[in-house]
Amino acid sequence: MILSATMRRCLLGLFLLCGAPVAQAGDTPLLAYGARIAGDDARTRVVIDFDRKPVFFVHYVANPTRVIVDLPETSFGLKPEDLKARGVFTEIRYGAMGAGSSRVVLTAKKPVAITVADVKPDEAGKGFRLVLDAERVTEDRFAVLLKEQQWTGSVASTKTARVVEPPAAGSFVVAVDAGHGGIDTGAIGSETKMEEKSVTLAFAGELVAALNKESGVKAVLTRDKDEFLSLPERVQTARQHGANLFISLHADTLKQRDIRGATVYTISDKASDHLAANLAERENLSDEIAGVAFKSEPAEVADILIDLTRRETQAFSVNLARSVVSSFEGQINLINNPHRHAGFRVLQAPDVPSILLELGFLSNKEDEKLLVDPVWRRKVADLLAVAVRGYRGGAVANGG
Ligand SMILES: [Zn+2]
Repeated sequence: MILSATMRRCLLGLFLLCGAPVAQAGDTPLLAYGARIAGDDARTRVVIDFDRKPVFFVHYVANPTRVIVDLPETSFGLKPEDLKARGVFTEIRYGAMGAGSSRVVLTAKKPVAITVADVKPDEAGKGFRLVLDAERVTEDRFAVLLKEQQWTGSVASTKTARVVEPPAAGSFVVAVDAGHGGIDTGAIGSETKMEEKSVTLAFAGELVAALNKESGVKAVLTRDKDEFLSLPERVQTARQHGANLFISLHADTLKQRDIRGATVYTISDKASDHLAANLAERENLSDEIAGVAFKSEPAEVADILIDLTRRETQAFSVNLARSVVSSFEGQINLINNPHRHAGFRVLQAPDVPSILLELGFLSNKEDEKLLVDPVWRRKVADLLAVAVRGYRGGAVANGG
């Protein structure tokens, strides 16, 4: 029987859907309560202990080589050292992927194959353990493994599409995007150990509240909990909401710990400076961290109409960035040259003016204190609402 790619994906989705309840007696997520890793550059074994029998699904992603283990929603009660990368693996991440699923991403230096992937009951009766054996293989062998699994697609793509309420007629929709989430923690505060994904989510809530006080504005979140969203999913969610503006929020770290203040980014092919280029490169890694397979751009991108729309949108993005900078001036610490640009993939919507706002840097002590301060967050959110108001005024004056 020959199945279309879509049908195959549906079948896979069904398999996962049917499989999930095995591990989810009741609504409580699985608990991964222990883990260990052993081996060398040729063979490595990873063991994860669960309280119940996990249904899992393994696949590979290339460039860099990654082994992805998809699980039902799991809470990871692991110590960082339990799954510290070693042997064939250079990095191991785990966390929520949203829509009731979790993921472990094992990044390898060289091509690997999983030779054993098994769930066994724990001898002491404490649940089940998942055993994965990975072995170095040739590039050719890995290419075959990748090809053989093509039909399954990535599990992320089987996530049910979000059902989004259409915006009320006449309202100006602002999509607020809390950077990072789930398996992708983002930066980590040097003093508080606060994760960027939590800083951005807390701030996003504040911003939505401030924007919704503006008459005629409806603010929506791309994510409202600790879940992973790929960069294209963030853009897509904004567009589904009929967003007129897209604001992505971040609070990254820099090697230069003395640098502080807010920065507003717009998209461009060429970065304005090194700092902007490095930051965009790091932000664009988000999908890799989560093991989302790279999908090539749709052919329509080359379309001349899209190109024109893009240029027009770009002008509006720049206006918004300027409005934010002038609203912040004298009120909020700004980096020097606070409007910068670089190739951020999350700012790619051809038809939605978009900015990425670095609220401050978690690598700077003073900034870190402010970023976790609810009073400061409210002040910044209010100033952003003023900036959006200013942008709208300008856009109306310019006939936009
Ligand atoms: Zn970030």
